[in-house]
Amino acid sequence: MSAQDRSISCTVCHHHCRLSEGQIGFCRARKCHAGRILPENYGHITSIAVDPVEKKPLAEWHPGCSVLSVGSYGCNMRCPFCQNWQISQMGREDVGWRKVSPAELIALGLCARRKDPRMVGLAFTYNEPLVGWEYVRDCAMLAHERGLEAVLVSNGCVNTEVIDQVAPLIDAANIDLKSFSAAYYHMCAGDLDLVKRAITRFAKEKGCHLEVTTLIVPHMNDTPEEISKIAAWLASVDSQIVLHITRFFPRWKLKGQQATAVQQIKDLAAVAHHYLSHVYTGNC
Ligand code: SF4
Repeated sequence: MSAQDRSISCTVCHHHCRLSEGQIGFCRARKCHAGRILPENYGHITSIAVDPVEKKPLAEWHPGCSVLSVGSYGCNMRCPFCQNWQISQMGREDVGWRKVSPAELIALGLCARRKDPRMVGLAFTYNEPLVGWEYVRDCAMLAHERGLEAVLVSNGCVNTEVIDQVAPLIDAANIDLKSFSAAYYHMCAGDLDLVKRAITRFAKEKGCHLEVTTLIVPHMNDTPEEISKIAAWLASVDSQIVLHITRFFPRWKLKGQQATAVQQIKDLAAVAHHYLSHVYTGNC
């Protein structure tokens, strides 16, 4: 039997990477090991910091509080404007990381809460947390047992089975809706339909507060028509969904590009306001 014949498919996202023993997926986070595809980045923490919830961004969930934010490496999208590319686009060998088990992470969270009672929980963020969704699941379950809450900041671009596993464990989520164009998502190696399904699923999850972020990149997704489509669709899911219209800064493959003009962000937020009651501007 050839190595190709022995390969197996990852079911986490739309890439359906077919991997042979030892091979790493497109996201650089999952690996075929002993006939199974496992999250190689499980507990490999590249970044950890106590952040205000407003920085996630979450505008209407525990305002004035903070969360212990953690990230690993790896992502299943390739947005040329990635604002966190130094870790999201890297693999195990390219970045510094340290192993933090779920129990250790909860202990760090409890320690941070003892110092400041406004520290309400953990946030899985910075890279794409759901390419290593098992760590999110294990930490969120343990966090709840110890009275900590769980926040997810995600591109939402994973299969429904993964969202179904994670959503009931999440207290607040911020999901990107980068565009309302399938071609735009294709350019970013993502899948618009999966993201729409994820947003719909989180919106329906009782006990999970949902906010959505659209990063406005000049000349790519910055028309009033595009924002109208996004806001109208969100309103059709739930008119109470919070939307953040945020400003792009030059990064990674678009580092020669101008930052989005502040006035344009304000104008596009006003467009979104025609459909949604809760719209915020970000990075202005
Ligand atoms: S999660 Fe990673 S390994 Fe799995 S299909 Fe997506 S990109 Fe490929």
